[in-house]
Amino acid sequence: MKIGDTQIEAIKGDIVTQSDIEAIVNAANAQLQTGSGVAGAIHKAAGPDLDKETSPLAPIKPGDAVITRAYNLPNDFVIHVLGPIYGADKPEEDLLSNCYKNAIQLAEERKIKSIAFPAISTGAFGYPLEEATNVTLSTVKVILPTLKHVKLVRFVLFSEKDLALYQQKIEALKDTL
Ligand code: ADP
Repeated sequence: MKIGDTQIEAIKGDIVTQSDIEAIVNAANAQLQTGSGVAGAIHKAAGPDLDKETSPLAPIKPGDAVITRAYNLPNDFVIHVLGPIYGADKPEEDLLSNCYKNAIQLAEERKIKSIAFPAISTGAFGYPLEEATNVTLSTVKVILPTLKHVKLVRFVLFSEKDLALYQQKIEALKDTL
């Protein structure tokens, strides 16, 4: 489906194998180090040079986004965002929204055409997927019509169940455009 001039889509997959995408988003930790989940997969696939670039940029705050090269990943850039820890970093809706907004804004400034997101904060940080998806989609709905460069936003979900929820929410979004 398109919002403005930008295609949005949801697929089941792994964030580190999105070879047709210019920038992938990392659900990072404040220290921008490897860890569990998405951050672990991205640092492992990128190789140790990623850590050399991220270390001096840390720490970041919930909602912040920073951009680096992607090293051994099949992408040009990694945009690292720190999602809110559900129930601890407040207000969590705004902080989660800022992650998507700031990541897309960075991509736009760099004239990046395609960006792929994991479901930020919905793993170790405990954000319920349905609530997080509502925040995510209402954020992209507002920001996408303002963009010139970003033509594809892909949501990469790790399970069939998560993908089904995204697809249902994207369908519902169509009716509000
Ligand atoms: P956070 O700490 O922001 O919650 P996590 O990495 O723990 O981040 O999880 C975020 C979401 O990404 C979860 O829904 C998890 O199932 C999913 N996920 C974990 N690994 C991958 C991966 N390699 N590719 C895409 N999604 C992933």
